[in-house]
Amino acid sequence: MRFLPVFLDLQSGVVLLVGAGDLARAKLRLLAAAGARVRWFATDDQHDLTGLDTDEASRIELAAGDPLTADLAGVIAILCAGAGDIGPAMSARAKAVGLPVNVMDDLKHSTFIFPAIVDRGDVVVAVGTGGASPVVARRVRERIEAVLPAGIGELAGFIGRWRKTIHGLIPEFALRRRFWERVVDGPIGALVLAGRTDEAEAALKEIRDPSAFAGALPSGQAEGRVTLVGAGPGDADLLTVKALRALQDADIVFHDELVSPEILDRARRDAARVPVGRRVGKPGIGQHAINRLMIEAAKSGQRVVRLKGGDPFVFGRGGEEIEALRRAGVAYSVVPGITAGLGAAAQFEVPLTFRHEALRITFLTAHKAKDAEAVDWSTLTDEKMTIVVYMGMTAAPSVRVGLLAAGRSPRTPVGVFARVTRQDAEAAIGTLDELPDLVENIDGGPAVLIIGDVVAHSAPWRQSELAQFASYFQVAAE
Ligand code: SAH
Repeated sequence: MRFLPVFLDLQSGVVLLVGAGDLARAKLRLLAAAGARVRWFATDDQHDLTGLDTDEASRIELAAGDPLTADLAGVIAILCAGAGDIGPAMSARAKAVGLPVNVMDDLKHSTFIFPAIVDRGDVVVAVGTGGASPVVARRVRERIEAVLPAGIGELAGFIGRWRKTIHGLIPEFALRRRFWERVVDGPIGALVLAGRTDEAEAALKEIRDPSAFAGALPSGQAEGRVTLVGAGPGDADLLTVKALRALQDADIVFHDELVSPEILDRARRDAARVPVGRRVGKPGIGQHAINRLMIEAAKSGQRVVRLKGGDPFVFGRGGEEIEALRRAGVAYSVVPGITAGLGAAAQFEVPLTFRHEALRITFLTAHKAKDAEAVDWSTLTDEKMTIVVYMGMTAAPSVRVGLLAAGRSPRTPVGVFARVTRQDAEAAIGTLDELPDLVENIDGGPAVLIIGDVVAHSAPWRQSELAQFASYFQVAAE
């Protein structure tokens, strides 16, 4: 690491900006918005302050003359942007008097560089790559931005306002730190993050004995809770921001087998990962045991994530799990995920509804032929209904028989969409009559079946029609 991120106090002096054109103006806007006082030597004598509000413009001092001989009293840093040859000369002068200097896009003549910044009020994150790649720095910044709650700056400000008071009430450092941890991780922090600062303020004032509040539980034993998180169908980038935050906070993650390793990688590095799901052919530990493990972990003070493929409430037994948690008096919340059917629809461009063509969607499961026999297919004959079948690979022949017997056309378009949103995703499309063969052609699940006219709009369908034309032309040319 050549460049250490430090934070410059812009109130402590003047920043000297040397340069002209868009580059100089971009830096001027950045500094002005951050509240800096700037002395600007415009090397083309064009002091253009468009884009600054009056308050910002009032802090800009328009300087004339030679910056190489200008007075440096009160200057805290020197910045050259669009300054041409003056940049290196200015750098030499700054170094001679020991002032930090940045010459834009010129590492050799810079003693500091600008990071990419996440700016959330009192919370500022600086991301640097040692000058190697601003593009990579910006990508990292975007990721950080995505996981930081919008109210994090407000939370820091809230604590800042109370710091002195609490310092007076809890002189001991370790106890005070625990006090703030409990505030940040508990209901008061949640209120601030939810934008309900007034209520948070009231709750903080309600605390009669701050030392007792801080010491009420031994450290690390805050109240545990369970977050039921939908992991989506496979692609880790389809996790919601809330899912990511829960994973980053977790002490322990109980996950289904269906959850991909890339998603487990997004959990906090030292979170325990416990597989609890069933696998085809192998029984899992059972729903009872899963419930018990979650409850025990939460009661011992851990932040538990129960991570499920797709959405927890779509054929995921999420309903049963929260019932068990409720009965046990364990706090919980639910974070939705993208269910496999929606993942398939997006990836393979199956519009599940379509004006005039498809007005309803049914999600159903047909795990075994037995289940398929139990389905009342006569309720599914509406041609303007799209049917999405989960766990339907084995039962595909029965699904076909059921729908045909109920009167759906054998020519109804169907698709089998396997391992959707993963690297090895696969689709087979055809007609309802061909459904069992389509499933045979697929190289393993998990897969959803989508049945309905809208499948004819899908990408694989369009491509297959093109392919038919291509072979036709080939034949005709011979
Ligand atoms: N809660 C999950 C469904 C769990 S049931 C969800 O909302 O997606 C398991 C079934 O989901 C599988 O049999 C299959 O039908 C479907 N499924 C899960 N992941 C899938 C994937 N990546 N591609 C296709 N189907 C998937």
